[in-house]
Amino acid sequence: MQPFIYAFSEGNAKMRETLGGKGANLAEMTRLGFPVPKGFTITTHACLDYLSHLEETGEDHLKSELTEQIDKAITHLEETSHKKFSDSKNLLLVSVRSGAPESMPGMMDTILNAGLNDQNVNILAKITQDERFAYDCYRRLLQMYGNVVYEMDSQLFEDILKQEKTQAQVKFDYELDLQALKRIVEAFKELYLKELGFPFPQEVKIQLTDAIKAVFKSWNNHRAKVYRRINHISDQLGTAVNIQEMVFGNSGTTSGTGVLFTRNPATGENKLFGEYLKNAQGEDVVAGIRTPSVIEDLKTEMPEIYSQIHTLAHQLESYYHNMQDIEFTIEKEKLFFLQTRNGKRTAKAAVKIAVDMVQEGLISKEEAILQVDPEMLHQLLHPTFAPQSLREATLLSAAGLAASPGAASGEIVFTADQAKAWTEAGKKVILVRNETSPEDIEGMHAAAAILTCHGGMTSHAAVVARGMGKCCVSGCSDFSVNEKEKTLLTPQGILHEGDLISVDGSTGRVYLGQVATTPAIADESYQTLMTWAKEKSRLTVRMNAETPTDIQTGFKFEAKGIGLVRTEHMFFKPERLREIRRFILSASDEERQQALDTIRDYQAEDFEQIFKLCQNAPAVIRLLDPPLHEFLPHSDEEIQQVATDQNISTKEVRTRLHQLQEVNPMLGHRGCRLAITFPNLYDMQVEAILKGALVVKEKGLTPQVEIMIPLVGLKEELHPIRTRLELLIQNFLKQHQVTIPYIIGTMIEIPRACFISDQLAKEADFFSFGTNDLTQMTFGFSRDDAGKFINQYLEQGVLKRDPFQTLDKEGVGRLIQIACEKARPANPNLKIGVCGELGGDPDSIAFFDEIGLDYVSCSPYRVPVAQLAAAQSAIRLAQ
Ligand code: PEP
Ligand code: MG
Repeated sequence: MQPFIYAFSEGNAKMRETLGGKGANLAEMTRLGFPVPKGFTITTHACLDYLSHLEETGEDHLKSELTEQIDKAITHLEETSHKKFSDSKNLLLVSVRSGAPESMPGMMDTILNAGLNDQNVNILAKITQDERFAYDCYRRLLQMYGNVVYEMDSQLFEDILKQEKTQAQVKFDYELDLQALKRIVEAFKELYLKELGFPFPQEVKIQLTDAIKAVFKSWNNHRAKVYRRINHISDQLGTAVNIQEMVFGNSGTTSGTGVLFTRNPATGENKLFGEYLKNAQGEDVVAGIRTPSVIEDLKTEMPEIYSQIHTLAHQLESYYHNMQDIEFTIEKEKLFFLQTRNGKRTAKAAVKIAVDMVQEGLISKEEAILQVDPEMLHQLLHPTFAPQSLREATLLSAAGLAASPGAASGEIVFTADQAKAWTEAGKKVILVRNETSPEDIEGMHAAAAILTCHGGMTSHAAVVARGMGKCCVSGCSDFSVNEKEKTLLTPQGILHEGDLISVDGSTGRVYLGQVATTPAIADESYQTLMTWAKEKSRLTVRMNAETPTDIQTGFKFEAKGIGLVRTEHMFFKPERLREIRRFILSASDEERQQALDTIRDYQAEDFEQIFKLCQNAPAVIRLLDPPLHEFLPHSDEEIQQVATDQNISTKEVRTRLHQLQEVNPMLGHRGCRLAITFPNLYDMQVEAILKGALVVKEKGLTPQVEIMIPLVGLKEELHPIRTRLELLIQNFLKQHQVTIPYIIGTMIEIPRACFISDQLAKEADFFSFGTNDLTQMTFGFSRDDAGKFINQYLEQGVLKRDPFQTLDKEGVGRLIQIACEKARPANPNLKIGVCGELGGDPDSIAFFDEIGLDYVSCSPYRVPVAQLAAAQSAIRLAQ
């Protein structure tokens, strides 16, 4: 017979998957001889078994195999605890608690005091000689049981309690006297009859069975599902159920209950941090009805208990090599530990605790690195909203994507120009658009945050904002902008230009009005941890950046060079835009050449600056990628302006615009396709790169030039482009009699390129996977429109993760693997990296490390995240 049940004395900490976190740790504490009330755990497999049977057949009962094992376990519990259900001298009552393999605090259900009924309440009163206490336990059971097992509205119970408190003229539950509690118990029982048509079950066995089923079912309640989705926890794990002898923190003033962290979870300070309530049960602490005392007070109130807690807590921390979150109960001066788990903590605390523990000799550097969630580092590098302010703020929407972390408040503006103008006038603004386009770049730069109604995690707004380290919420689908009216339609009403909103780029939420922020802190512990991380990783981390500020940011985080300069981002300053438009619109070859010459000079200056900032570190410069129409004007006003600038008619501008318009621009005339049809475009850019590099070389530096050709799908595209550029470079170097180290590579971002990577590898010195386009084209999901359905896909479980945020290993990952396997034998010197957004995602980085890529490249503010993830991956691979 399959064991569905383990007594606490039979399990251990390694059995998380079977016993859940709580069960495994209770077993471990029991094994270590800690004061743990007796009990047993029903496995997660029993839960999954029950739930699938329920789903398949609609039959809501526990299998006979399981009920037999429960009966045996109860008998064993009665023997070891020397108590019995309904025993008039040694009455057994139990708690029934959930506990999943991954911690999901407060998401599932718990029932306390199971075993009480009309008869046992009197036994309990007699044994404890405290009738008030007994009735207090009973009313708690009635309330929890009704709510959890029968889904009765908890407000109905609260109303009855409130009515009694009003009548007694008291504020707190614990101030109610015995008579009031007796009336409440009666009223609760009547509520069962009224609401359900049947009474509260008096039979203990029924109570237990129903409580177990309810806890199993709570695995699938809405909030648990949402929590799992947000935290990427599998739906297939199930919850274990822990049945444990009750100990009573509410049995008088020498009793109490509390929660304790072995170190401060907010600051990381190495000092016990916790609270307790005297004469109370666990939920009283959580419910916040009474203000608990700080744990230090226990030192004077119960010195022996305090010293015992202190010793045991430290033992647990040393044993688990991690900061512990402990629940304890004191029953008549006797201490019990009810739970221990790794404590949740802020980023600041996480880093400090990890580093301190190494310095205290408690853990290794490797363990410290593994202890900190890389994504948490954002909290240290970007401002966040102050928790108190956030609790009081009015939420406008939670539908947006957390596109680029940070937190900012500001006045709404609807155009990039307005963003620039108002910022220059000293205001803080949030640029709100349905979607952004490259023309908005200056306004995006000026704004404190960016909010878009459309677009996913790799939409223009998201990519650019991350590059800038700017707070951004994208794809906030329940908002819409009316550009003409300059209004923002939200589920809470219409907002106008100048209205104050707050945007949380770490959660995707938008609030009305101003929310206070707390600034970023990168302290000494952070620096220490990051130094260790860099020592441990194999994969190097570069940055995607083109502006001096971004490049400096990336180098501040010790990026090992630039993995992607998106040259098109350099075209959007007004004077440059004018020239590129002249190139696109002019009918005269001469004028077109003139336009290119001017742009070349501009670009040469940019590249010079980039190489200078890079010192001797490599910089991958990608040649022009977007379709040309992205540079053309769209609004009537702008078309008129361009016509005047270029001395042509608006009709001509419109005609050209029309000619260039594409139905699917992402699959259109872009990337290397531009160079096949307008070869002098790439010629111009490469000349500019060489000119810039030459100036820097003459200053004594050695620029490492890496030229990258985008969107290649055919060898027949790459070969002629490379041949032509190579000739141009050789002529340039000969003419200037210099040597500049350079390599030419290609992006791999089209599925076909992965399959012919051996052919491409012969024409390339390096590959860089463009996972944004590769994901888009592998799935056929538009990277700009997928936001419209991806949320539902995630909610319905069609997708487990958004593939634009985390690599789809089976599909896109497999393609990358195939590409590497084919390419390496064809060109053993080939350097391989990633420059799509996934280059900054920890899970994806682990995959890239495992398949032996040389580097990942991501936006500057993600560089530390990627560095820590690379270190974790190296440590895990070595284990
Ligand atoms: C990519 O496609 O992954 C990439 C880096 O290029 P872009 O996002 O500029 O298309
Ligand atoms: Mg691309």
